[in-house]
This record gives sequence, C-alpha cells and structure tokens, in this order.
Amino acid sequence: MNLPKLHGVHVPHRKNTAGLAPVRMPVPASVTIPMSMHIGAPAVPAVKVGDTVKVGQLIAAPGGFVSSPVYASVSGKVKRIDDMLMSTGRFMKAVTIESDGEQTVFEGVKPPEVTDIKSFINAVRDSGVVGLGGAGFPTAVKLGVKDLKQVEAVIVNGAECEPYVTSDTRTMLDDADWIRQGIELLQEYMRVPRVVVGIENNKPECVKSMRDMAAGMKGVEVMALPPLYPQGGEKVLIYNTTGRIVPEGKLPIDAGAVVINCTTLAAIAKYIRTGMPLTEKVVTVDGSAVREPKNVIAPIGASMQSLFDFCGGFKSEPRKVLYGGPMMGIAVPSTEFPVMKNTNAILAFDEKDAVLPEPTACIRCGRCVDACPLNLMPAAIEAAYNKRNVDRLRSLHANLCMECGCCSFACPAKRMLVQTNKLAKGLIAADNAKKKAEADRKAREAEENARKEEAVK
Ligand code: SF4
Ligand code: SF4
Repeated sequence: MNLPKLHGVHVPHRKNTAGLAPVRMPVPASVTIPMSMHIGAPAVPAVKVGDTVKVGQLIAAPGGFVSSPVYASVSGKVKRIDDMLMSTGRFMKAVTIESDGEQTVFEGVKPPEVTDIKSFINAVRDSGVVGLGGAGFPTAVKLGVKDLKQVEAVIVNGAECEPYVTSDTRTMLDDADWIRQGIELLQEYMRVPRVVVGIENNKPECVKSMRDMAAGMKGVEVMALPPLYPQGGEKVLIYNTTGRIVPEGKLPIDAGAVVINCTTLAAIAKYIRTGMPLTEKVVTVDGSAVREPKNVIAPIGASMQSLFDFCGGFKSEPRKVLYGGPMMGIAVPSTEFPVMKNTNAILAFDEKDAVLPEPTACIRCGRCVDACPLNLMPAAIEAAYNKRNVDRLRSLHANLCMECGCCSFACPAKRMLVQTNKLAKGLIAADNAKKKAEADRKAREAEENARKEEAVK
C-alpha cells in the first residue's frame, strides 16, 4: 500500500469549545449503560434488577478476551436489564440504574497493585478503558503485545482532526500530568524506547502544554504535524510520525508502533493511581442547533438529551444528531441514546447543515483519489459496487477504506462515496462469509466421506 504523506483534506475546524474547560453536569435521574461500548464480545451483566450499586462498582464482566468490564457511573438501584436499540441498528443488553443522587463511591475502589507487565496489563483491563478517541478497541488487548521488543515507538495521539470535537484538546490542556504519568507507566512496564506525541500545529496551546509536560523526560518527543484531516487516523499518524507504513492487512505493531489516544492514556494512569475505573467522559456538545456549546463531564449512560438540556437545549429544531464528529460520526434517530465509553462528542445540526446536497454525475476529476490518505480509488470503488463486482472491489482494496470521508468531502459532484465504500466493504464481508461457509461445508462432506470409506474397509 502506498501511503503518501500529505494526502487528506483541509476541513473547517470549528473548534468552538476548545477554550472551554469541561463542566460537570448534574447527576441524571437515571443512566442506561450498554453492555457493548467496545469492539469485541459484549460484557456480561454481574448485577440483577433491584441491586443497589455505587460509583465504580462492577456491573458487567468482560464477555471474552477482546471485551471490557463495565462499571456503575451513578450510585442507586438497578431498575432494568433489557435490550436496547444501538446506533448500529442492533439490539444490545443494557443496565439501567436509577440514581439516588448521592454519587456514593464503591468501597472496593482502590489502586491496583502493579509490579510488572502482567499486572500492568491486568490493571489496564480492569480499568474498563477502551479507545476513547472513538475507536472503542479494548486498550488491554492493544497493549498486550506478545513480544515487547516489537514495540519501537508508542505514538500518543493528540491529533484531534474531526471538526468541532475538543475533548482530547481539553485532556492535553487540563490533564497533561495524567498523560505524563501514563507515559511513565508505559516506559516502566512496557520498556517503550520511544514515545512520540503527535498533534496538529493548529493547536499551539496543546503543543506547548505537551512540550512542557515532556520537558526532561527521556525518549519522549512532541511533533507538531500539518493540520490535515485525517491526521489522527492510526495509519496516517504512524506514517507522519515515524515514516513507517503499516503493511496491508497488518496491524500497527507490524510497523513497530502502538498508537494510543491521549485521553485513553490519561484514563489508564488515573485508574492505576486512584483505582477509579472509567465511569465518566468529557463530551463535546456542539453543532448549529445547540444553544450553548460546552465540554461536559458526563456519567457514562447519561442520555444525549440530558447533555443537550445542560447546554441550554436547542436554539432551532435539530435535524441531524451525531455521535462523534461530522466526518466519521454516526447519525442517531433519537436524543435518548446514551453517552458511551467512546463518545467524545455529540453534535446537533439544524436544517441548513443537516440536508445533504443532491449528487450529480461523476466528472472524473480525480479529486477523490487525491484526497484519499490511503491512495484508494473511490470513484472506481463506487462503479464496482454499483455492478456488485466483488472481485473488482477486492482488487481495488476497498476493504482498506477507513471510512474517513475525505473522498466525499472533496467530491465536487457531492457523490456519496464514503457511504458506498461502507456498503462495498459489507459486500466483501458477505462474500467472504459465503465462501467460508461453502469451504466448511465441503470440508465436512470430505470428512464424512472419509469416515464412510473407513467404515466400509
Ligand atoms: S473514506 Fe475510504 S476511500 Fe474515502 S478517502 Fe477515506 S479511506 Fe479513502
Ligand atoms: S471527486 Fe467526485 S466527480 Fe471527481 S472523480 Fe471522484 S467521484 Fe468523480
């Protein structure tokens, strides 16, 4: 895969809340906490209806190796454990806790004993921390690399390139010391030789805060990067900080790198030093329909509506509500969806900003190719998808698409390229599943025939 250095797009930044320190919202009357706020197996409820719980108490255990525990974000009583509709369109079990308003901390909250790499990774798992920049991948799995010698560099991701979103910006400004402690933990237990903090150069206060934080630390450097979107994309950030290319179909560790979001790193340090697992998030609340945009400290499971209410409600009717930023965020049909572990922003837009322009015919200008940070050919992928040509989609490496939306943003014909790419990836996945089912069936048949032949002998 060819990964040119300066591909990407200049998006409007609209970091309206960058200068606003996070404010804690009042404790909501209830929270609804889904069992899947991460990539991997859903967590399994460890409480039952009627149980009394306190802040930081385990309410669900990891459901597998790639999974994450879930903790109560309010003190109160478990009211319901039932299925809720998620933004993915799937149903997922969720625990609803009615708050007693006291925010009593669970007596079991105490710093874990960390003495070596094994206990460090266990602590990261117990913290309940997953990729807080939006990815949601369980951090213990990411850091639990088999051979520590493979890790040549850890990249701390401070490239918050999505418009509007400023929660990582606030971490770099307000929680620099937690980031420093996180880096020290990585150096002590993972023996990381090199740490690079990557931030776009249009955030000079963050660059300064991180340079002040890193002053005197060995093996830590802060790189100010061009303010191109998607600078914070894992593969893009690795390339622009280390010059390494993640091989096609491989992981960052195959390029000697581990990327960790700056807020994720701060959350791990907080848990290891205080014992309080992940129960709350700083969420940027913004968009043209929001009356008073803010950075809000919200308990996980609080409804989007309760955050919007805390921000003065809507100044005009919201026509589009998103989890995350406008480039990669997910639209939701209701403001009753909850804040999740990986929610870094919720945005509400009025009619003017919500309506997509009608696409016109492709004029073969090639701007989508120029914009793609992975050097894919979005217009060709669209044409192959329209013909349902899976082999052609494979040869165009459609599967590599990280759904950053640069192609759609750059397209003068306003074609829905990123949406088509998502469908194309689904088509490849369905074809892979079909082929695997067929191969499994043939293998079972061959086994059965061999058994019969053996029986005849
Ligand atoms: S959405 Fe996919 S195809 Fe489009 S620019 Fe991003 S990576 Fe490239
Ligand atoms: S940017 Fe749009 S109009 Fe230009 S080649 Fe790509 S799809 Fe066609």
